[in-house]
Amino acid sequence: MMPTVRSTTLLALFIAALLVAPLLLPEFYITLLDYIGLYAIVALGLVVLTGVGGLTSFGQAAFVGLGAYSSAYLTTVHGVSPWLTLPAGLLITAAVAISLGLVTLRLSGHFLPLGTIAWGISLYYLFGNLTGLGGYTGLTGIPPLSFFDLEVRTGREFFYLIWAVLLLALLATRNLLDSREGRAIRALRGGSLMAEAMGVHTARSKIVIFTLAALYASTSGWLYAHLQRFVNPTPFSLTQGIEYLFMAVIGGVAHVWGAIVGAGLISILKQWLQDWLPKLLGQSGNFEIIVFGVLMIFVLQRARDGVWPIIARYFPQPPKRAQVREAPPLVRRERPAAGAVLLEVKDACKRFGGLVANDRMTFQVRAGEVMALIGPNGAGKSTMFNGISGVDPLTSGSVIFRGERVESLPARDIARRGMSRTFQHVRLLPGMSVLENVAIGAHLRGRKGFVAAACRTDRDEEDRLLYEAARQIERCGLSEQMHEPAGSLPLGKQRIVEIARALAADPCLLLLDEPAAGLRYLEKQALGDLLRRLRDEGIGILLVEHDMDFVMGLADRVVVMEFGQKLAAGLPEDIQRNPAVVEAYLGGVE
Ligand code: ADP
Ligand code: MG
Repeated sequence: MMPTVRSTTLLALFIAALLVAPLLLPEFYITLLDYIGLYAIVALGLVVLTGVGGLTSFGQAAFVGLGAYSSAYLTTVHGVSPWLTLPAGLLITAAVAISLGLVTLRLSGHFLPLGTIAWGISLYYLFGNLTGLGGYTGLTGIPPLSFFDLEVRTGREFFYLIWAVLLLALLATRNLLDSREGRAIRALRGGSLMAEAMGVHTARSKIVIFTLAALYASTSGWLYAHLQRFVNPTPFSLTQGIEYLFMAVIGGVAHVWGAIVGAGLISILKQWLQDWLPKLLGQSGNFEIIVFGVLMIFVLQRARDGVWPIIARYFPQPPKRAQVREAPPLVRRERPAAGAVLLEVKDACKRFGGLVANDRMTFQVRAGEVMALIGPNGAGKSTMFNGISGVDPLTSGSVIFRGERVESLPARDIARRGMSRTFQHVRLLPGMSVLENVAIGAHLRGRKGFVAAACRTDRDEEDRLLYEAARQIERCGLSEQMHEPAGSLPLGKQRIVEIARALAADPCLLLLDEPAAGLRYLEKQALGDLLRRLRDEGIGILLVEHDMDFVMGLADRVVVMEFGQKLAAGLPEDIQRNPAVVEAYLGGVE
């Protein structure tokens, strides 16, 4: 058993080691550590972009080049102070990243990495072909950085600057990921459908992390330019872009510390291979690339999460839990009076090619009632939910929610108006705790953005969001599972987590798609009690459910669907006696 060393102690030891390293190590190792730091800053961007956000980029080296060339050009040609070229370079990089992101991030699957390769190559040739940038020879005579009279010239001096920047970026990144926007970023991996239904603007989140990763790369480029004091296009090529991705993946692309581990491992290994392979093989060449390729395949086979989790095993930490502190409640939305029409579906049609999944569906849901939508499998109930909630818009017809037509709005805008839902096929983030999953539901009730999160000025709001999430979890009877990974719960309980998540949005209308499936008798009773309480609070509930005892004991009104059409509508007792319904749905058995 390893003794538990607290993570703060480990961090303090790490910083202490960084402080004394330049005093003890020979020049060669300082230079190596400088480069490891520069690479790690870029790899850290990839941790957020690829490891957390699930967006693969081969083009980061081009952004390093943008930062380096911006400063090289502005200092040597226009005599601008290096301290001004940093913000200038960041602005240029942000502009380029946002433009490229708007185009590239729309691509999905393997088209996205291909897109990054395309502009990675383009920018490289742009650097090489612009005569103003010195062509392939590059630009020389870049001035050193200086603090007042102190010039940062040597690798030893640079060491402190590089690693200070890296540590700051690392802490900011860690803070960001542990926040409202951070949860939204982490939700991207589960596909954007759920996140959008919870109010997350996923396209925007993607652009932000793409730009963030580019800005990290650009900062690294700025440091590089003033360390080297000359630039040429070589270090900003696609090959280097691939190497950055290697670093992130080998280090552990899902962990901020993986960036440092990966940059360290690859740099040291490369140095070592470049020294030894030519001696071993008796000829020179880029043999290290071959070894990297083999290594990469080995890592992908054996340690998909990279090296960091293996290292972290030697320093076991008490399980990390988001702290729930009592906090002032979040503002609640104004509620329509009980009995007011919340939702009006008119002539809703949805076609999938030749299949008419919803055919002229018309019905209403009022505040303070449970409306059940029943019908055999394949009748079109889930399709109806997707049309109402904007997840998969109708082909024709209208959806009026609280007096406003919403059928053409994106799901997140409908969510913002007070509609919240669960999914028949549970959509939780299995690795995240129940608490964090539910907190995603409260996304629209917070305001604090990326900068506030990175600087930790969002903590009051974060406490309120988590406290609200915890309250909803308690209300749904899941307090004991609050800190467990959502994926570890039985499927029935995961459905209840989805209800808690929907409630965290403070909805007026709740759409529940088969919430009782997989629940045991007592759990169903508890769910029934919860839904009755919600109804009494004035929430409107649209419920799809197969358990007829559950439905008939709970629903105020019932709509029956068959083959996409409305077969019958009425009070539960009338529906149960309706011969057409008995024939179609209950299979003729009374
Ligand atoms: P229910 O929820 O009532 O069981 P669904 O709404 O899931 O039924 O499905 C209704 C019909 O629409 C089914 O025939 C199903 O195969 C079809 N369907 C649902 N989603 C799609 C889709 N994305 N593409 C094509 N067909 C679909
Ligand atoms: Mg369904």
